[in-house]
Amino acid sequence: MISRDSSAAAKPQQCHEASSSARRASGAAGLQHFFAPASVAVIGASTHPGKIGHDIVRNLQTSGFKGAVYPINPKAPEILGLRAYASVLAVDGSIDLVVIAIPAKAVLPVMEECAQKGVDSVIVITAGFKESGPEGMELEKRLEEIAGRAGIRVVGPNCLGIIATSTGLNASFAPTFPRVGSLALMSQSGALATAILDWSVQNGIGYSKFVSFGNGLDVGVVDLLRAWEDDPETRVIVAYMEGLPNGPEFMRVAKEVSRKKPVIVVKSGNTRSGARAVSSHTGSLAGSGEAYQAAFKQCGVIRAHSMEELFDLAVAFAYQDVPRSRRVAILTNAGGPGIMATDAVETAGLEMATITPQTVAKLGTQLPPAANLNNPVDCLGDADAERYTFTAETVLADPNVDAALALLTPQTSTQPYESAQGLAAATARSKKPVLACFMGGGAMTSAIELLVSKQVPNYSYPERAVQALATMVRYREWREEPEDEIERFPANTDAVKGIFGRAREEGRVNLGEIEAREVLQAYHIRMPESRVAQSAEEAARFADEIGYPVVMKIVSPDILHKSDIGGVRVGIASRQEAMDAFDLMMLRIRRYAPDAELRGVSVQEMVRSGREVILGSTRDPQFGPLVMFGLGGIYVEVLKDVSFRVAPFGRRHARQMVDEVRSAPLLRGARGERPCDLDAIVTCLLILSQLVTDFPEIVEMDVNPLKVGEPGTGAVAVDARITITEH
Ligand code: ADP
Ligand code: MG
Repeated sequence: MISRDSSAAAKPQQCHEASSSARRASGAAGLQHFFAPASVAVIGASTHPGKIGHDIVRNLQTSGFKGAVYPINPKAPEILGLRAYASVLAVDGSIDLVVIAIPAKAVLPVMEECAQKGVDSVIVITAGFKESGPEGMELEKRLEEIAGRAGIRVVGPNCLGIIATSTGLNASFAPTFPRVGSLALMSQSGALATAILDWSVQNGIGYSKFVSFGNGLDVGVVDLLRAWEDDPETRVIVAYMEGLPNGPEFMRVAKEVSRKKPVIVVKSGNTRSGARAVSSHTGSLAGSGEAYQAAFKQCGVIRAHSMEELFDLAVAFAYQDVPRSRRVAILTNAGGPGIMATDAVETAGLEMATITPQTVAKLGTQLPPAANLNNPVDCLGDADAERYTFTAETVLADPNVDAALALLTPQTSTQPYESAQGLAAATARSKKPVLACFMGGGAMTSAIELLVSKQVPNYSYPERAVQALATMVRYREWREEPEDEIERFPANTDAVKGIFGRAREEGRVNLGEIEAREVLQAYHIRMPESRVAQSAEEAARFADEIGYPVVMKIVSPDILHKSDIGGVRVGIASRQEAMDAFDLMMLRIRRYAPDAELRGVSVQEMVRSGREVILGSTRDPQFGPLVMFGLGGIYVEVLKDVSFRVAPFGRRHARQMVDEVRSAPLLRGARGERPCDLDAIVTCLLILSQLVTDFPEIVEMDVNPLKVGEPGTGAVAVDARITITEH
């Protein structure tokens, strides 16, 4: 326990930090009282129906909670037949959980009373804190101080409360109590949580735990992941989140938890990351949405893009095991939907299972001659329940089949309810995952209800079922992958420190090509030979030495986009051209950028062949360094065809970054294009990942372009720029 003596109270700040980490260290066990308390006190309990404090007491009474309930209200002797107390201090026994539902201004004093009473778990339902402006923010800070000092774990403020079905605990003001099930749901939004609950009850979806954590003063996403990772009542963790206080911590914990059970997240509010002015391509292409997307991929979190998809996935994972492989059988009583489903299977990257000759023969003994005995197996529109069930059983027994999609459409001889019974029984026996798609309206209602009650998830369209199945397969594959090991490449970090230091001394945070070259060189990224000339004669001499053709570029700390103002000339083929180019470039730049400090013209070896790709990095406020990959030129600017990962990452993710862009086939050599050295790109991405991890002061950088030759020839960075922080 946290000490509560006077010396601790005298140093609230220090004490708060210590207790906060102690609270976190207590981990899952620390949240036990929220889900299985022996006693609950409701502060703000009211005699008036419709008041939150009244509804919470009523919910505790009616949901099957077996522990003691203490309504706290100084004015009422009795509430809903229970003796009421003036304060928690008036209660004789210990109190495991306190629910606070009184106006914000009154919360702090009762929190102090909770501390005095030795309460360790409090739900603050009350709104009017951080979410309501500066005053509320201050109130929330003080609430946190009291909690930290007293070692009290807090859910809320500004939340709906908690439900735990196995203990019959409804410590919330939600009017509906869901049935027992294996989904655990956490939601940042309380309003959404009530809607989800209501909908779930209607659709027969069961929960183990349900937490609306509101402002997340203390208990938040990471704590709940930890609390549920080994919870035997929970098969699937579902989260609705708007933001995260600590991206890297979330990634670390979510990755561990996802190895044990699926974590499905809906993240709303994909806005651009802040109002910071961006100077790089990467900066302008990376919003917080991209960062979350990358982070979720890297830690195995399953992302749903809508509430509908969230539940499509949640029920699939909750009711069925993940398939052993991608091989799927489709069973149907109608050709059209069978073909639709087949298309969906192929688009989703699943495989149509090859039905064995033995299975085909067995199906042939009972199915009419017109039936299709191969995948998609069609038992025809006149199939009754017996034939449909026989088909399901036979297909599921096939050793080549690891999952099935069972379609049914209402036709004249169709027996939906009996077919559902047969399918559910066959599914239970086979132990292979089956998703159903009983299509239609009224005719299917009772059949669908039966399927859901037997834990066979049903989808209104084949595509949605296939999506759910494909997500399950991908999750399984992710879980079986070994850790993506972080490699280290040789690097001269002292040299980089020196370069950054010098720029800062000159009051600059933007490093142009010349300085960025030095940084990349320190990390052994290949670059064309390059020398800075101060005169036309010198430019010509360097060009002679480097060998024609050469490229010439203006060197100025004030010019970031050189070619925009005529600061780049490629294909300079002779001594004379080099001299002319020098003079012309100086003249032109002086005109277009009269205030720019010019440091000469760099004469550079021209890299003649190769595809141009862009690598870059920005710093995301949530997750830290984010590395980007894309094809150069219009692919980046017009199509925004880029991929992201949070650094540091390993070779597998670097390869995925390359594979993920839509134009990846061009790099692999499709349609007469020459293939390029993908390994070289991957290595550069890994080096960049290391660089931005080593130097958190790199705010943004672009390597644009990296020119990539044919396989085995490597890649050369012909331009780069870096922006660093001021300190
Ligand atoms: P900017 O500041 O305008 O981005 P770059 O240095 O990227 O200037 O040059 C513009 C373009 O010129 C590059 O995208 C590339 O196509 C070409 N280029 C620049 N340097 C070289 C080089 N050394 N070899 C071949 N092409 C180059
Ligand atoms: Mg460039």
